[in-house]
Amino acid sequence: MFGLEIFKPVSIVFSSVPITDFMERIKVHLPFKSPEYSNVYIMGEFVIDGGFISKEKAGELAGEIERLGYRIDSLTFIITHHHIDHIGILLWYDIRAIMHPSENEFLLFYTNPQHFVKPYLEWSSRYGIDLEMLRPLAEFFRSGSRVKGEANSLKKDFRIEYETPEGMEIIHTPGHSPGHICIYIPKEKILFSGDLVLSVTTTHIGYYPGYGQDPVGDQIESLRKLLSYEIDEIYPAHEDTIKNAEQRIHELIEHYENRLEEVYSGIDGICNVIDVAKNISWSAGSFEKLDGWNRVLAISETLAFLKRLVKIGRVGEKEIEGVVHFTRS
Ligand SMILES: [Zn+2]
Repeated sequence: MFGLEIFKPVSIVFSSVPITDFMERIKVHLPFKSPEYSNVYIMGEFVIDGGFISKEKAGELAGEIERLGYRIDSLTFIITHHHIDHIGILLWYDIRAIMHPSENEFLLFYTNPQHFVKPYLEWSSRYGIDLEMLRPLAEFFRSGSRVKGEANSLKKDFRIEYETPEGMEIIHTPGHSPGHICIYIPKEKILFSGDLVLSVTTTHIGYYPGYGQDPVGDQIESLRKLLSYEIDEIYPAHEDTIKNAEQRIHELIEHYENRLEEVYSGIDGICNVIDVAKNISWSAGSFEKLDGWNRVLAISETLAFLKRLVKIGRVGEKEIEGVVHFTRS
């Protein structure tokens, strides 16, 4: 089913680059400042990830794959996780896909966003998050509805399995999302890392409904898991190929551990999540200066680190007037 020897190098075309003699990369440009693009890798009959969610971008990706000489319906797409910049082609084309079962429910973000309204409302009131701050999330749900509305061709039934193709190892690496996976090719000693390991930036980890109780602990554990593999090169879902795999993985573990200390030092007395988010630094500036979407990410990230601190017993949780507050143990 899977044999690297059958791969033929394909000529360079617009936005696609052969990066080894058995693999091509297509860069799918994204409508955000960061990340700027998603990488889609084609390797024989397998494609790693499925590009951006919009019908237009999914169509561009499908066109590019066909221009390289492949037929969409003869390929298997391995989707590292359910986020909007990885699943485009799955939503618009009748493709065969491999994805972790923990991700399946999140496809409802795109096909039935109302499903999430209640859990998100409960989440915001439990942690004292002003609904106004969550406006971008509401927009996101509305855009999910728009995708649903515009899409006669939007799929309802997905051909998703969870199996490990011959010659590969699928590694479950939760944290950034509950069913995030990496794909290891032992013969070549290469790893497709999805969003877990990026070459420059560090991946967002958030505490959201349905994401598990300790996503930061999961993320660190997932990174440690990768250290047991012999890896020559990492092909991430964004940014550039990583040649110093082990060093980069260590850097990321250190980053999350330092961030944990920073969040701990941001707890001043009895705080709710917003108080703590205001006391720590953000790459885009102070909490007050963050734009709407970055503010949502900052809140969910602070909460994820607080939950980690609770799990390891350094912080206690206390409910005051129905809102969860945190204090150093
Ligand atoms: Zn992601």
